[in-house]
Amino acid sequence: MVRTRLQRCISCGEYGLGARCEKCGSAMAAVSPMKYSPEDPQGARRRKRMDVGSDEWLESLPTTRNEESEEE
Ligand SMILES: [Zn+2]
Repeated sequence: MVRTRLQRCISCGEYGLGARCEKCGSAMAAVSPMKYSPEDPQGARRRKRMDVGSDEWLESLPTTRNEESEEE
């Protein structure tokens, strides 16, 4: 089985598996299967707005900890 990586057109943003966009024929760039795109132009601004790392930000995070089990 051939391993194919999802490609995305650098021109129109269409997703595909070929080296060329089926829509506009532009070059495709490999898309990493990440939940959040490292190229997210809003990422840095969003993190800054949320003041990542601050106490408020920490408290805003969903927690999976069981508070009662923290006592040791
Ligand atoms: Zn395209």
